Amino acid sequence: MSDVFARLGVKTIINANGPATRLSGGLMRPEVAAAMAEASARCVEIVDLQAAASKVIADATGAEAGYATSGAAAGLLLATAAAIAGLDAAAMDRLPDTRGLKNQVIVARSQRNMYDHAVRTAGARLVEVGLPDRFAGSGVRDAEPWDYAAAITDKTAAIYYVATPDSQPDLTDVVTVAHDHGVPVIVDAAAQLPPLANLKRFIADGADLVAFSGGKAIGGPQASGMLAGRRDLIMSAALQQLDMDVDRHTWSPPPSLIDLDRLAGIPRHGIGRPCKVGKEQIAGLITALEMTFAEEADGRLAARWQTLAERLATGLGDVDWADVSIVSDPAGSGVPMVHMAVDANRADADVVKLALERGEPSIHSNPDYRGTGKIVFGVTCLADDDPDRIAAAVKGLDNQVMTGAR
Ligand SMILES: *Cc1c(COP(=O)(O)O)cnc(C)c1O
Repeated sequence: MSDVFARLGVKTIINANGPATRLSGGLMRPEVAAAMAEASARCVEIVDLQAAASKVIADATGAEAGYATSGAAAGLLLATAAAIAGLDAAAMDRLPDTRGLKNQVIVARSQRNMYDHAVRTAGARLVEVGLPDRFAGSGVRDAEPWDYAAAITDKTAAIYYVATPDSQPDLTDVVTVAHDHGVPVIVDAAAQLPPLANLKRFIADGADLVAFSGGKAIGGPQASGMLAGRRDLIMSAALQQLDMDVDRHTWSPPPSLIDLDRLAGIPRHGIGRPCKVGKEQIAGLITALEMTFAEEADGRLAARWQTLAERLATGLGDVDWADVSIVSDPAGSGVPMVHMAVDANRADADVVKLALERGEPSIHSNPDYRGTGKIVFGVTCLADDDPDRIAAAVKGLDNQVMTGAR
């Protein structure tokens, strides 16, 4: 592979972790890269392309409308901005100054995480609810629907819900409370694919806006994502993200995305303008989404991952200082991972893991298993020949690593 990385003197790595942003995401299918190259050869009105993407994302999610974003985090920023400003052009122009506007976003304390910068960036103040003692070992509870109800005021712009298989309370219960009070629910579902059924699940549960990553399991461009939800909120998100140097007398965006009759005036560049999405990202995202659907439907996606996992497990099978097994991702996605349980009398798993990272080729495995005596390899970002390369590297570890480790 002649490549830009070699020209820049940047070493490539084997990404046996997963589509983490710090590891540059995953690998795109050639068809996705080709769609991006095709898009790069012509210009369009970006709002027309976003309207087309809206339709595809709406169909995929069951939502009224959708929007291509520069990532799930960008989707959270846009969603929050939409919840705060609605279709009020003057409010859009003011963000992140939210004085006088609804600017509180309620979140379960147990769901606070570093991505909530995106919510706060829009000008929202987070209001935490619930005492999640189930994580303290001292109780069994988390936030409950009544905690949310008690926190809703006339300043509440939205409830923000971070979806994982373990999230409490159930989204449907949160939605019931929110909608009783006329408050929208924003769901962070960035990493909840696969299964693709989750594309529809959160909208079906009543979420008003849901953010997904494009650069994770669906294999879109690393800097892409999707927002899906209510038509008016998507319209607000679009207006706050697009290049709005438009002439109100001549601008005619597709009404499916932007209904000018609902606007008192045209807002200027909004709070989402720094989250630019290029035509190449949109083309790649939509192509990846469509291909993922096709590949999931006929089992090709699962088969590819299973094949990679088996090849890796087989390649590592004769390593006598570890037990190798294929384990289904505990987070419930069903994606296989390869676990190497290292015999502590022979080596220290964390030292071996670091040696693989610093080796040639550099192999990054899952960091969540530090201290467990296991090295865990993810397969979703592996190229076809990576399992063999990983097995060779593991078997080539020198004695010093193996013994110095203890
Ligand atoms: C990955 C992730 C994000 C950010 O997604 P990007 O597409 O990289 O912006 C947000 N929230 C959660 C829970 C994530 O796992």
